[in-house]
Amino acid sequence: MAKIDTVLSKLNYINGEWIGNERERMDIINPFNGETIGSVPKMGPHETDMAIEAAYSAFSSWSQLPAQERSRYLKKVADIMIENKEELARIMTLEMGKPIRESRGEVEYAASFLEWNAEEAKRVYGRTVPGRDASQRITILKQPVGVVAAITPWNFPAAMITRKMGPALAAGCTFIVKPAEQTPLTAIKLMEYCEQVGIPNGVVNLVTGNPAEIGNTFMKNPKVRKITFTGSSAVGKHLIRQSADQIKKISLELGGHAPLLVFEDADIEKAVRGAISSKFRNAGQTCICANRIYVHEKIYAQFVNAFVHAVGQLKVGNGFDEDVQVGPIINKYGYDKINRHVQDALNKGAKVAVGGKGNIVNEHACFYQPTVLMNVTPDMLIMNEETFGPVAPIQKFKQDEEAIQYANDTPYGLTAYFYTESVTRGTKVMEALEYGIVGWNDALPSTAQAPFGGIKESGIAREGGSEGIEPYLETKYVSMEV
Ligand code: NAD
Repeated sequence: MAKIDTVLSKLNYINGEWIGNERERMDIINPFNGETIGSVPKMGPHETDMAIEAAYSAFSSWSQLPAQERSRYLKKVADIMIENKEELARIMTLEMGKPIRESRGEVEYAASFLEWNAEEAKRVYGRTVPGRDASQRITILKQPVGVVAAITPWNFPAAMITRKMGPALAAGCTFIVKPAEQTPLTAIKLMEYCEQVGIPNGVVNLVTGNPAEIGNTFMKNPKVRKITFTGSSAVGKHLIRQSADQIKKISLELGGHAPLLVFEDADIEKAVRGAISSKFRNAGQTCICANRIYVHEKIYAQFVNAFVHAVGQLKVGNGFDEDVQVGPIINKYGYDKINRHVQDALNKGAKVAVGGKGNIVNEHACFYQPTVLMNVTPDMLIMNEETFGPVAPIQKFKQDEEAIQYANDTPYGLTAYFYTESVTRGTKVMEALEYGIVGWNDALPSTAQAPFGGIKESGIAREGGSEGIEPYLETKYVSMEV
């Protein structure tokens, strides 16, 4: 088992100081075995307001720093993350269980958002526009929003922070993060890197504690101008309601229910490989994991045979074993949801092709076998809700229109995948899918270069690409008479 001395007892980072040892603490659990691996302070409204005050005070000088200098800081944090890739990856695997190779991949992915936004910082252009008459001059300025408060989930403990911190700092905003209670150690490490590269005091801050208390404090304090959230649609809707009182700017990256369509002319080998990586990475606990698979009847048997065989080969276990591909489920709550979806499907007539069972080691350590369900029907829970686990239900279809209708018949709109070798069919399908992200023969579409985000109940705004910095900027128009 990994031993990481530096993470045993950690503090919060506010205004360049590490504080909080005197406070009540929250334990952090290793989901592989249920052992307590450390603790963080349970901060409340007082400390959250301290962090807001620090970020507010730092805003003036940070926002006025030349973009090239802000860019250099971001680049240095990205570099230090890569230099310490193994350390950061091991912390992630320890606190949330994902296979160590995936954790290493996440460090690179997370650093890429800082690197990308280090470049975007230099390209925040305004505009000049011809006036309505000879004496009018119109100038359009892009300015940082102000203090940004970020609330992040446990499933990508590093990347979901850098995807927000990168554009916020690049734009000239100052930043406070409340990481998920399951994975604060990765977040604390990121703050240590920010401190090491000399990011000025108050520009980045971290608070841990009761989510609702910290969230309420962000919402009530008028010095916080923007909330950026990644997590469940339920909490996202709650935050929208709360943000109404002060009309705070809000970005939301919420849940999904991704369909994966395999058309009759698909490259089956490619589709099986894609379905495996989309469905089973992070034990199925990503917002863009394929949640339901639809396969054309002509290739159904061929696809299912190859897919079931591949799923049966997946190795489940301790994320620190280099050859493990599926780690533990984050907690008993997550496990219970997966089990509920499988039991509901079985009660309604589904058949298990492989897997189908869980393993509760203790109240904090649960696993679920990589599972394929056949004979599924649209009325089953698993075909309508995000499962967040390693279970793949497969349904047959006859017509392209039918598959598209199934795919779009959901309140979610984050990611959809499809496999076809036909450009004509693919073009029609990509245009018809009501999703923010579409993977055409590509099961891993996320990258810093592209705008990630959902439509419908999957979110508001985008992260990444040239769109990613926009939500951190205000537009001001100046009209001048000469
Ligand atoms: P969650 O909504 O339970 O928690 C997310 C964050 O919100 C955590 O930091 C949590 O402490 C905080 N939170 C909970 N209640 C709160 C409240 N009342 N006020 C303020 N903050 C509160 O989600 P989770 O279980 O951590 O993450 C899984 C969910 O996140 C899934 O639905 C997944 O699809 C989604 N997700 C979406 C994306 C995306 O980019 N669209 C990425 C990753 C995860």
